[in-house]
Amino acid sequence: MARRKIVAGNWKMNMTPSEAVKLVEELKPLVASDTVDVVYCVPAIDIVPVVEAVKGSNVAVGAENMYFEDKGAYTGEISAPMLVDAGVKYVILGHSERRDYFKEDDVLLNKKVKKAFEAGLTPILCCGESLEQREMGVTIDWIRLQIKSDLVGITAEQVASMVIAYEPIWAIGTGKTATTEQAQEVCKGIRECIAEMYDAATAESVRIQYGGSVNGANAAELFAQPDIDGGLVGGASLKADFGKIVNY
Ligand code: PEP
Repeated sequence: MARRKIVAGNWKMNMTPSEAVKLVEELKPLVASDTVDVVYCVPAIDIVPVVEAVKGSNVAVGAENMYFEDKGAYTGEISAPMLVDAGVKYVILGHSERRDYFKEDDVLLNKKVKKAFEAGLTPILCCGESLEQREMGVTIDWIRLQIKSDLVGITAEQVASMVIAYEPIWAIGTGKTATTEQAQEVCKGIRECIAEMYDAATAESVRIQYGGSVNGANAAELFAQPDIDGGLVGGASLKADFGKIVNY
């Protein structure tokens, strides 16, 4: 069965609650789609108003991060049950900005992936290489290590339902998109890794996004690749261009 495409916006640390509601209203007619899953991953403070603002539309709401404990003395953190109760369906885990600036490692991310599934959230698990790693020729080895570590103890059924986002770090927010061939090659490599770790059916089901300077002009070619099932979109998700990406 063909995999359904999924296009997710990663708003990062942008949009106050009132700006967020305005953006949702502006994008509403542009992102309508019967064929593509559309997700807005928004800052924690925007979750409640955005869940309200997307009601009755085709858009689901995601978080950009969460902690792996349910509750307790973790000042400043937000838990999976809190997200679920607020109406969140997806959560981005392991974005390169969190791995880099906030020192999130694969041991921590594995705990977060487990907790997301336990709570009923769909993880959008990010992986990707730096420019140095690409130039050293270790891209796929690095990504396989990330995937294998982050998915320890995760079942085939869970993996089949999740989303993996391949995001070369050098392409994020730089305007430098990976070539279609580079993006397809790594997304195929991720699928092969899942087939080895689990089985062919799981690999066929898991949705793999490409992320890194996706825009209205390059989305169609990227999404036409056999192993690319949509995109994780940063900068362009805050503009009308996001509608062009959804309706590529
Ligand atoms: C991202 O942050 O996940 C991303 C892909 O950003 P951009 O589209 O701006 O490169």
